[in-house]
Amino acid sequence: MAPASLAELRESIRDAIARRCPLRVVSRGSWLDANRPVHADTRLEVGAYAGIVEYEPGDLTLTARAGTTLHEIARATSANGQWLALDPLGDPSRATLGATIATGSYGPLAHHFGTPRDMTLGVEFVSGTGDVVRGGGRVVKNVAGFDLTRLVTGAWGSLGVLTEATVRLRALPSVEATLLIDIGSATAELERARTALRGLPFVPLAVQLVDAAARQALGVAGGRDAFIVRLGGNEEAVRAQREQLRGIGEAHDVDTEIWRRARVAEPAGAAVVRLSRLPSRFAATWQDAERIAERWPGGQLHGDPGRGVVRVVLPVDGNVLDASLRAALEIPFDGTRIYERLPRALWPALAPTAMHGAIDRGVKAAFDPHYLLNPGIFGELQ
Ligand SMILES: Cc1cc2nc3c(=O)[nH]c(=O)nc-3n(C[C@H](O)[C@H](O)[C@H](O)COP(=O)(O)OP(=O)(O)OC[C@H]3O[C@@H](n4cnc5c(N)ncnc54)[C@H](O)[C@@H]3O)c2cc1C
Repeated sequence: MAPASLAELRESIRDAIARRCPLRVVSRGSWLDANRPVHADTRLEVGAYAGIVEYEPGDLTLTARAGTTLHEIARATSANGQWLALDPLGDPSRATLGATIATGSYGPLAHHFGTPRDMTLGVEFVSGTGDVVRGGGRVVKNVAGFDLTRLVTGAWGSLGVLTEATVRLRALPSVEATLLIDIGSATAELERARTALRGLPFVPLAVQLVDAAARQALGVAGGRDAFIVRLGGNEEAVRAQREQLRGIGEAHDVDTEIWRRARVAEPAGAAVVRLSRLPSRFAATWQDAERIAERWPGGQLHGDPGRGVVRVVLPVDGNVLDASLRAALEIPFDGTRIYERLPRALWPALAPTAMHGAIDRGVKAAFDPHYLLNPGIFGELQ
């Protein structure tokens, strides 16, 4: 099914309700191997429902249909010196606005600008009852009633099919610089650098800690862990920011292109888990992540000290035994462990379900009572 209009999309969902036919919601299909397997054979293709509906440079807001790619949005907004400051992994010419919001995907820029939840002002979606629902609005200040926008951001298309979203834009920095700061692998050294970065009188556009394997993949090889820091502003501001970074360690410039490379450098099909605790415990979280990566050939790490999150990326080829991958991933860890991508068979073992309790059940029953939209993507209802 590939509906070309809102009316056709509604019709497709109503038809699926009548036939009790579960649907796999698909946009450009670049990230369907992420998250749990979906129990649905019929695809509802919504990627062609695309295009910018309204762009108000003076208000720094843009409304676009869900299938619009991030690349198209960047092209339209850069002409006015603005950007949607979202850089999720993957090729921006394929990543769609709808899927980015549905999956709550973000990249290193979240360090400064936050995640889709912070920049989505309003949404329109078709629920699993076939109704068109609108939440939020098209302006920056609007708060009334339940916050449906935040509810469907990160709901992975399990409550409704997003059709349109309004997002907040930012001014593009006129000057950018990216610096790499080597740090030693001792935890004390990492903690010292993290504290110093946190104490800076400005918040960099992005800060990523990368291990030696991730550095290699990004083309900035070196034997030690390193912080990669993205600066932006006008010329004077960037000069001042550089000065302030000096106190942290020896910094040298790298090509700003590194951020684009980082989005596509990940080995296809790798198993990925995110570990997180409070940012103040970042050094300990990094150490735990190292224990996983050390057990796996080619394992790589990158993390955002400001958000307290470390992503562990383990390349998986066809010959890998699920049991050995499971053993590597199952280290004791007292923080939050979110799996992004796993071989199909490991989901029930490692993360039985993300749907617990009366609230989850109640929300699902209100928006998708027949359990037709991406069933299973959060695991089974319990
Ligand atoms: C190689 C690669 C790695 C990635 N890794 C990460 C990562 O590690 N972390 C991260 O946060 N993001 C990651 N992404 C995310 C990705 O950038 C965004 O999710 C992106 O927007 C996917 O776009 P798509 O149109 O191809 O989505 P699709 O692959 O078509 O869909 C992705 C998911 O979103 C749902 N969906 C799509 N459109 C809608 C809609 N209109 N309404 C409701 N649900 C919808 C689908 O059901 C599906 O579950 C990765 C992408 C790629 C290509």
